[in-house]
Amino acid sequence: MSIHTQTIAQLAQGLKDKEFSSVELTQHYLKRIQQSDLNAFITVTDELAMAQAQAADEKIAKGAGSILTGIPYAHKDIFCTQGVKTSAGSKMLDNFIAPYDATVSHQLNQADTVMLGKVNMDEFAMGSSNENSFYGAVKNPWNTDKIPGGSSGGSAAAVAGGLSCFATGTDTGGSIRQPASLCGITGLKPTYGRVSRYGMIAYASSLDQAGPMTKTAEDAAIVLNAMAGFDEKDSTSAEQAVPDYTANLNDSVKGLTIGLPKEFFSEGLDDEVATQVMNAVKEFEAMGATVKEISLPNSAYAIPTYYIVAPCECSSNLSRLDGVRYGYRCDNPKDLEDLYLRSRSEGFGAEVKRRIMIGAYALSAGYYDAYYLKAQKTRHLISEDFKKAFNEVDVIMGPVSPTTAFDLGSVKDPVSMYLADIYTLSANLAGLPGMSIPAGFSNKLPVGLQLIGNYWSESKLLNIAHQFQLQTNWHQQMPQEN
Ligand code: GLN
Repeated sequence: MSIHTQTIAQLAQGLKDKEFSSVELTQHYLKRIQQSDLNAFITVTDELAMAQAQAADEKIAKGAGSILTGIPYAHKDIFCTQGVKTSAGSKMLDNFIAPYDATVSHQLNQADTVMLGKVNMDEFAMGSSNENSFYGAVKNPWNTDKIPGGSSGGSAAAVAGGLSCFATGTDTGGSIRQPASLCGITGLKPTYGRVSRYGMIAYASSLDQAGPMTKTAEDAAIVLNAMAGFDEKDSTSAEQAVPDYTANLNDSVKGLTIGLPKEFFSEGLDDEVATQVMNAVKEFEAMGATVKEISLPNSAYAIPTYYIVAPCECSSNLSRLDGVRYGYRCDNPKDLEDLYLRSRSEGFGAEVKRRIMIGAYALSAGYYDAYYLKAQKTRHLISEDFKKAFNEVDVIMGPVSPTTAFDLGSVKDPVSMYLADIYTLSANLAGLPGMSIPAGFSNKLPVGLQLIGNYWSESKLLNIAHQFQLQTNWHQQMPQEN
């Protein structure tokens, strides 16, 4: 079995049994990254990785360390990493060397993981195809003419393409689940507040949440164990005990009630994607689960609500990038206004500017009530729909994305691109945890099944996903290599 097809659990065993060292694992991945044409990495931190791998090997030799000790991973370039460029996929931060570690970076360091590098993403995490990156589009390892999904497209491509054992991602409106789905890997967006946002470059603060992108649900549980927890540096982080997410993976799903929202199976959903998703649901029925049709009546408002709330928050968050304190600065500014204007005009890409303008407009005195306030009210209604649904069902299932990965360059207008997020946005608006797990193929491209759980039900979701992965082998498929 070659190294890059193995899970964290398998590699950890191999390290323990001295089948290979962390240095060897790291070299293997670095070589693959070097030979890859997926454009998944923005920065490869080879020297740092080798030093971390060496330190991990010393620890393992002493019989110390954790299950993640010496495991190589790819870090989304949205997490600050001390002394390492942290670009958020933007020209604005192309010269930004983070002076401190994000809490997630710190936690993964504490777990003795090996950071291979920082991975590509849509600029400031705005996008669904990874075509908005200053560093160019990422290619889908299953078919390099296709998008990998976004915004954590580099993360998904790195894991699916065997360039790292796991990756970090962030999900504001679907950016862990959608690329996980389109690249055929497992992705988990935790409950809002579960993972610290400190040092994670903010897109929309009330929606952003970090999570693991892995080959299996078991691996996702292992990584979430390291990432989750209260952080006094993040005022929205929840003071909630962290269970051992690997502890309940083997619970039976017999008697589980699955809710299928009728709104998630309506017009716009590709037939073949629907078939694969329903086949997965049938698999759960065979395992003893029951299925119930439910309704999330306000989900039709998820796209308009999200595309007001997220731009409003980003217009405020990105105002700190002004060419003065850090980041890109234009050449020879005439005066202060010219400095702000040109630094921001030259530093931000088109989609980011579009959203800053929408947000600034929707928050302006004359329009605040009509747009932002209304969106907040609709957001509340969307959350209430879920609350009612979870009185009746244990988990909600449906598609992640209405289609499989589309052709690079094929979706040109922004509103059509926003439609890609139709099934993922609601979970963020409500703050609920969600997952994507591999559930089949259509035209040789992966299809993901989405699981949405109640607040703090990550253990349950991981358990459900793990049980599915014991019955199926979709998650073990790897793209063909030339
Ligand atoms: N596609 C959505 C957007 O463009 C979600 C992105 C994300 O989750 N970061 O905003």
